[in-house]
Amino acid sequence: RPVVFSGMQPSSDSLHLGNYLGALVNWVALQDTVDPIYCVVDLHAITVAQDPAKLRESSRRTAAQYLAAGIDPERSTLFVQSQVPAHAELAWVLGTITGFGEAGRMTQFKDKSQRYGAESTTVGLFTYPVLMAADILLYETNLVPVGDDQRQHLELTRDLAGRFNSRYGETFVIPEAYIPETSARIYDLQDPSAKMSKSAASEAGLVRLLDDPKITAKKIKSAVTDAEREVRYDRQAKPGISNLLDIYAAASGEPIETIAARYEGRGYGDLKKELAELVVERLEPFRTRTFELLDDPAELDRLLAIGAEKASERAERVLAQVYERVGFLRRR
Ligand code: ATP
Ligand code: MG
Repeated sequence: RPVVFSGMQPSSDSLHLGNYLGALVNWVALQDTVDPIYCVVDLHAITVAQDPAKLRESSRRTAAQYLAAGIDPERSTLFVQSQVPAHAELAWVLGTITGFGEAGRMTQFKDKSQRYGAESTTVGLFTYPVLMAADILLYETNLVPVGDDQRQHLELTRDLAGRFNSRYGETFVIPEAYIPETSARIYDLQDPSAKMSKSAASEAGLVRLLDDPKITAKKIKSAVTDAEREVRYDRQAKPGISNLLDIYAAASGEPIETIAARYEGRGYGDLKKELAELVVERLEPFRTRTFELLDDPAELDRLLAIGAEKASERAERVLAQVYERVGFLRRR
């Protein structure tokens, strides 16, 4: 079975609808056909300042949301990144074969450093893609589900793996991008030109999975649309309505044309109202399950410890080979 690695940052106390429809739903489905490694990437999260108590809570919440969505800790390796030291260790080695200019070309770094300003732009933010390469390469990953935002980082990962292999001998599996057939890309409800994101500027445009259903419904009903009345899919001319149709299709499993046809001759209000109901209903069991899991943090921590042990075993094997190839003395 191909190895698939994917992760989310515990950078907020709730995941959002984009994380859910664009990633988690696919992660769950993949469990039948691949060897999945799903990580809560807390080392990545601290590339921007985090409150320590909140970070700990967010890590548990992120893991609980993976489980509530249907990630099965028996079939998947589910763990928290900082509990497997090999990630930081391999990242160091990979950093030594990464060009300074090469890392400087990463557009996410350029974007984020501009957004945060010079003061908050750390070396950690700069080397973020190198850590991501380590995450992927430690598990002999074959496939990495990536959105547009991570495509360049995966290219860097492939370059670093190839470079290490040719310099030190075949060590790493070269991973490939995996784009699921049904990969919904969800945009901010208030600004449909920006992707919905945990660190989104507009709170009103962000559908947080653990929000009270009333808030979720209100946000969907207040989504920006346009001055026409026609429900029709057109990303360019009607980004707001198209985003709502994408959400509808992903949440219901129906094709977009079927949905658009149903709203022919009716206003945007009906579409928003019924979409709000659909999303709230779809999320209800997920929310309930997440809060149940969070009621028992000891059990959650126990599951994560088992996951970290499984992950460590695999990661340590690859790291030991890397250390050997690089010329380090054997660890005892
Ligand atoms: P941050 O703002 O902290 O970067 P994020 O919302 O971008 O948070 P990530 O943790 O970076 O979330 O990404 C987790 C996963 O969710 C990734 O697989 C990513 O591709 C996916 N994802 C994130 N945002 C969206 C979105 N708007 N639509 C679809 N998928 C998304
Ligand atoms: Mg992101």
